[in-house]
Amino acid sequence: MPHSMQLTCLSCSHLNRLSTAALNRAPSCILCGDMLMPDGVREVDLSTLERAVRRDTLPIVVDFWAPWCRPCATMQTQFASAAQAVHGRVRMVRLNTEASPATEWRFRIQGLPTMIAFHGGREAARHVGAEPSERIAAWVGAL
Ligand SMILES: [Zn+2]
Repeated sequence: MPHSMQLTCLSCSHLNRLSTAALNRAPSCILCGDMLMPDGVREVDLSTLERAVRRDTLPIVVDFWAPWCRPCATMQTQFASAAQAVHGRVRMVRLNTEASPATEWRFRIQGLPTMIAFHGGREAARHVGAEPSERIAAWVGAL
């Protein structure tokens, strides 16, 4: 890992620069004060996600979901528990595709739930369908 990194705040989209060592010290956003490495899974909108994908040093893993999608509810629980297991190495977020309708076109999403890992400004891996938390954590660990 590099000595310094940049992370987009998941609340206000501000681009924060911090040392890699600071990652383990619960860093917060210099603009809004929110945690940059939150414990749980944050809901993000499309514009925040696009900024994070383009600029972040750490991988970001997204659970794309919709309120009408039954398997998405299962996935949500499993994804949250996987996020605890990989905390500190990646950021795991979710995006409601119904609230951000351009998302499906933007990321060519063809089924829900879809999990996409982004790293270095591009898509690194994709998985369609719900999975148990251990499989999700292993999938993220292999990034
Ligand atoms: Zn912020």
